[in-house]
Amino acid sequence: MRIPRTIPIAATAIALAASGLATGIAAAPAATAATPAAAAAASSNHVVVIGIDGALFDRIAAADAPNLDAMIASGYSSKTWLYAAPMAQTLSGPGWATNLTGVWPDKHKVLSNTWGTTSDITEYPDFLTRLERANSALTTYADASWNPIVDGSVGTPLIGTVDKRYAATSDADAAANAVSTLRSTGPNASFVHFDDVDHAGHSYGAASQQYLDAISEVDGYVGRLQAAVRARSTYSSEQWSFIVTADHGHTDAGGHGGSTPAERSAFIIKTGPGITKQTPAIRPKNVDIAADVLATFGVARPAELDGRPLATASTDPFDTMVGALKPRVDETGIPASTLGWTKSMPTGWSVDNTGMGTGGVTEWAGWTLTDDDFWTQSQRDQTREANVRERGVFAVADSDEWADKTHTGTFSSRITSQPYSVAGKTSATVSFGNHYRQEGTQQATVLVSFDGGAFRQVASYTTDQIAQVASVPVTVPSGAKQVRVQWALTNADNDWYWAIDEPQVR
Ligand SMILES: [Zn+2]
Repeated sequence: MRIPRTIPIAATAIALAASGLATGIAAAPAATAATPAAAAAASSNHVVVIGIDGALFDRIAAADAPNLDAMIASGYSSKTWLYAAPMAQTLSGPGWATNLTGVWPDKHKVLSNTWGTTSDITEYPDFLTRLERANSALTTYADASWNPIVDGSVGTPLIGTVDKRYAATSDADAAANAVSTLRSTGPNASFVHFDDVDHAGHSYGAASQQYLDAISEVDGYVGRLQAAVRARSTYSSEQWSFIVTADHGHTDAGGHGGSTPAERSAFIIKTGPGITKQTPAIRPKNVDIAADVLATFGVARPAELDGRPLATASTDPFDTMVGALKPRVDETGIPASTLGWTKSMPTGWSVDNTGMGTGGVTEWAGWTLTDDDFWTQSQRDQTREANVRERGVFAVADSDEWADKTHTGTFSSRITSQPYSVAGKTSATVSFGNHYRQEGTQQATVLVSFDGGAFRQVASYTTDQIAQVASVPVTVPSGAKQVRVQWALTNADNDWYWAIDEPQVR
């Protein structure tokens, strides 16, 4: 047991909000910087992010959870995938730090449930702290049943100096404090955390009735929070959004920390002004929550954030092929119902497999388009789960998986891009998601060809590139009009892999 600790809300901001003077001021447009004028202004926007520890999206429907059901029926909802070791285990510390900071564990470095003072959480603060820094007139509130989120009991609190932090003694206590705070002061941005679903998972497993009952209990708290907001006298002049998420999943038998799909499972549900029912074809990432909240208040997205606002349209050519993904052929560990690979390429793209040996696993014979769900289930615990900065459909050359079936020769395959205009330019930058593991004689090279000329190498990788975003400078010859980019994985045989995503030439 821990004595609840309340840090008083800044008196002036709360006085404004409580008097209603804080309402009725139009928010700055999304994705624009907070101007000096905006820095002094309060906002009629309100976001409540609700964290349900260890909750599985797939169990909500089976639970008696009318409030979450209604949010899914009317709002934006999607399952999401988290990392696994060696990036970080699927634990609450890394999970909540990722949701709150909008960066992955290789940046925030909250890698366990006892992170001490060694994390980089102060360099990558939570979204409530970022809102306070951008506009101190905004009111912020954090309330957590798992106290390390808001107190210093196991390390630097994941949520920094916001207007009010409350370390709850139980989920019922967290709900009571949140109901009271939302009803009275109605903070602009809140984070409220419930822990009982995770407790039920540990005690009885995610396949148990007790786990469903715990979802039902927390669903009741979600309903009470929403009712508290609707009961505000100023509700009609306010805009309220609710986001619900989780920090990791649970196995059927109970437990998490590992790399199974159930443990890596999280989700994002959002309802609010302008949001209609949608399940995006390209799944969001948990780092998107922080970016989405900042955008709601017109705070410019910090460059170091890994997330982007929810429902941001994809500009990735590979994502255009999401409808072409097919079920397994030679793979055995991936469920037959999981669609996740295709040799079809986006318009203007091509694959050259003339150097490939014969045979091998059909799905991975040469460059393939795939997604996290399918690719990570081909073989767990080989760092495929750490490919967190690639989204939706991405391209993979996987000599390790290809070699799992009888074959001759080596894995040598080239994927070549559509043409990009470089007319009038003297230089360009090729950027792409870059998730690469080196072994043996395997070679990974990036090449460019101008106006149909010979390809020449502009980059190569001889060491692991885990969850990187590559930026390769290219000199444009005088008079060149177009460039094509080629990624070649060659001379590989049961080595590792290369995954690329969101290729761009700027
Ligand atoms: Zn747990």
